[in-house]
Amino acid sequence: MTSASLKNRASALNKQLESLDLAGRLALVAGLGGKAVFTTSLGIEDQVITAAIGSHKLGIEVSTLETGRLFNETVALIDETEETYGILIKRFYPEQDDIDAFAAKYGMNGFYDSVEARHACCGARKVKPLARALEGASFWITGLRRGQSGNRADTPFAEADLDRGLIKINPLADWDIETIRAHVAAEEIPVNPLHARGYPSIGCEPCTRAIKPGEPERAGRWWWENDEKRECGLHVPDAAASAIPQSTPLASSLVR
Ligand code: SF4
Repeated sequence: MTSASLKNRASALNKQLESLDLAGRLALVAGLGGKAVFTTSLGIEDQVITAAIGSHKLGIEVSTLETGRLFNETVALIDETEETYGILIKRFYPEQDDIDAFAAKYGMNGFYDSVEARHACCGARKVKPLARALEGASFWITGLRRGQSGNRADTPFAEADLDRGLIKINPLADWDIETIRAHVAAEEIPVNPLHARGYPSIGCEPCTRAIKPGEPERAGRWWWENDEKRECGLHVPDAAASAIPQSTPLASSLVR
């Protein structure tokens, strides 16, 4: 599919999805014919989507990036979620060679020392495994919401990902956190116990801290960096990715 037709299709889908509820949005995508992959971080938004996929037995592949640096609570929740909904969550792990190369160059926790090193680590542990998770996919479903950060304020329901040659679907784009929490309580959806301890957004253990009252939802992610638009590279478009330092072989090959 050409870039223009991918954009046109995403634009049409964006309009279709707007008027549907969550289950309707997911069912529509599952019925479009191409392979649909939902990548879950096991965060509260993603649990809402997984619950809908499992409860409605939708033909959507559920995958997660097992970075090797996740909280124990997150790892335990993968198993619990599979049991609750009778689904398989496919784990995608980083390549040992990439981890070794990162550790040799920066040190195992070198991501604290520079943005370049941090992007290199996210590249090895997240971005590269994500590429494998999305192999052959026409649709990539995510839990992105407009309220998560200023960087995500314009999140559409469907957008062309020209870099990956697929359409990204964000079925919770218009949900706020209060609606998410109420839905989770009403449907008794299992969630990460860390949310109740001040972690609204949960990533790798060494790069996530609890937030203080009044702080933005993602303030606890890579908190030592000053850039308000910090992301891990998974949801960074080409233009933004091009700003990532590319001075190392690892960074240039893995971080887009
Ligand atoms: S979040 Fe931290 S530990 Fe996880 S991949 Fe990124 S830099 Fe590495």
